[in-house]
Amino acid sequence: MNKQEIERVKSVVRNIPDFPVPGIQFKDLTTAFKDPEALQIMTRAMTEQYCDKGVTKVVGIEARGFIGGAILATQLGAGFVPLRKPGKLPAEVIQKSYTKEYGTDTIEIHKDAITPDDVVVIHDDLLATGGTMLAAYELVKSMNPKKVYISFICDLADLNGRDVFPPEVEITSLFTF
Ligand code: AMP
Repeated sequence: MNKQEIERVKSVVRNIPDFPVPGIQFKDLTTAFKDPEALQIMTRAMTEQYCDKGVTKVVGIEARGFIGGAILATQLGAGFVPLRKPGKLPAEVIQKSYTKEYGTDTIEIHKDAITPDDVVVIHDDLLATGGTMLAAYELVKSMNPKKVYISFICDLADLNGRDVFPPEVEITSLFTF
């Protein structure tokens, strides 16, 4: 993405103050997804980042990661795998619980979704503290794929979410707030 494209996409991300709780500046990407030009720019940029990496599966994190994840999988000719909240997936799952700011949360993936032959990109819309993605990364890693990449559409610089990952993990984000 060049500077102009970044500004174009950022200009159509809607900021919602105090959602879902006071003090949070919520970055609403639905306004960027509904903008045809912004959607094309984001799609092209994500595809360029991963087109030469031999990706076989894109794992999307429920729910906002399903949008970009499914787009990326389609563009790369890879498969799409949902990573979901507990009790949603119908077949046998493996799960991981993790600590959030308040309380804990759990994510699940089908046990047969990833194999050792896979090169995986895990995708979510936004990197905040990194807690959700770190749990997703550890869960997918435990399935022993060849390689795991991490993809976001955007990240919040102030929260230093990248710091929770081991330094060797390759993380991409199209733009930063
Ligand atoms: P975290 O685990 O703190 O990195 O939170 C990441 C998840 O929460 C992502 O799935 C985001 O969709 C969502 N999220 C957290 N903070 C924000 C924010 N300020 N604006 C939009 N989404 C957010």
